[in-house]
Formats: sequence, C-alpha cells, structure tokens
Amino acid sequence: MKLYISADMEGTSGICHWDETEKGLQDYTYFAEQMTKEVNAVCKGALESGKITDILVKDAHDSGRNLIPSLLPKTVRILRDWEGAPGGMMAGVGKGFDAVAFTGYHSAAYTTGNPLAHTSNRQNQYIRINGRIASEMLVNTYTAAYYQVPVIFLSGDKALCEAAKELIPNMETVAVSESLGGASVSLHPDRALELLQEGMGRAVKKDIDACQIKLPEEFHVEIEFKEYRKAYTGSFYPGVKKVGAKGVEFYTRDYYEVLRMLFFVL
Ligand SMILES: [Zn+2]
Repeated sequence: MKLYISADMEGTSGICHWDETEKGLQDYTYFAEQMTKEVNAVCKGALESGKITDILVKDAHDSGRNLIPSLLPKTVRILRDWEGAPGGMMAGVGKGFDAVAFTGYHSAAYTTGNPLAHTSNRQNQYIRINGRIASEMLVNTYTAAYYQVPVIFLSGDKALCEAAKELIPNMETVAVSESLGGASVSLHPDRALELLQEGMGRAVKKDIDACQIKLPEEFHVEIEFKEYRKAYTGSFYPGVKKVGAKGVEFYTRDYYEVLRMLFFVL
C-alpha cells in the first residue's frame, strides 16, 4: 500500500515560538532535526507493519525545505519545495495513494490549542468552512477525501488531535504537546518518537476504509483577514464576495474550487 505523509512543523514536540520554525534562525536547526526524527518514527511505524511498501513525504512547512533527507528511511521519496498549485501541503496526493498521515500539525487560527495557531498563513484571523473553524488539518483532510484517500494518522498538538478525532473517529492520533496560554508543555523528544512509531503501527493495522470521510455536498467558505487590503484584493477573485471591511465569502459545490480560491485569495 502507498502512504502519503504531509509533514508540518509547528506541531513538533517542544516547539513554542516562531524563531524555532524559521529557517536561518539559530533555534531552528534543532527543531528541524526533531521534525525529521518525528517523520522518521512515523515512517518506521508504517514500514514495520509490512502493509505499507511505498511512502511519499511532502515537506509542507514554510520553505518546504526543512526535513533532513538522510535521516529518513531509505525507501521513502521526499517532495520538497512548492509546486505552485492549489494542492499546497498535499501536492502530489491522488488516487494512487491508499492512506494519508499528517505529522507536526497544529491548531487552527482563532483557537487556543497551540501558541503558533494559524491556518495557512498569518494574514487571516480565521477561515470557516460551512461554519466550522478550518484548520490545515480540515482543509487537507477534505483534499484527501476529494481523491478518496482516507486519513489514518495525525500527530501534533493535543487540541488538534481532538479536532481530528471528532472529524474521523477511527483515525489514530498522537499528541506531542499541549498549549498552556502562550506557552506549551511537550513530551520528551525521544518519548514522542516512541509514541509516534507505535501510533502509526496501530493506524496501519486498523480498518483503513473506516477512516474515509464523505465530502460535504457544498462549501460555504468565510475568511476574515487581519488587514482590509487582503479582503479587497481577494474580492476580485471570481465568485468571491466582500463581507464587511476585512472579510470575504465564497460558495461552491466543487471542493477543488475551494482549494483554487484559497490558493489565490489567502
Ligand atoms: Zn508550518
């Protein structure tokens, strides 16, 4: 079976500050290595099951060039940098895959689950889809569902793990950290690796089809920006309506059109 892993960084154990996630800053190096070790642990959990024979890892944070390839299992392929298409953090996923996993994922904008909570970038207050606050996990789970690929595993902060289980009760989640106001409490980095490997091991042994969700039939997307200019410019995208000073809304029955709109408007 083929597994697709979308790897973000803000839900890596120990991370609590933007300086730890930005390439070129001193604090970043340690956490890029821990991010990689966490992806490696998830790959090992998947491969040792014997059921997963092929893994594509999408480096899905910021530059798309964070993971240290030599620290990953020899059999994986790594997708680095950005395609420049609506797929975003899910670039390259499609009908050829049997399962999706998210690692290092973080709580959504407008929530308190992670000191670095945001959705897609830091220029919006929130994104809602059908009234529900949208995390990257939600947007990307719908992308997986669009291609009929079930999401079987997520690691990241505790609040996001809870949100993921609400959406897909049968999936496995591993919380490596938890917010405490503007701070975060996390597991020891090596303990996180053990739990990630075990968690992915459980995920692949379960009934993967039970993690398949049905896409909503229609999508009402609302975005509230931090600056009015973004809403003004976004309102020129076909079908997007301006709402108030800083908001826009969009309606479609085709999820790919949601992705295309987010790609150009966010
Ligand atoms: Zn990120």
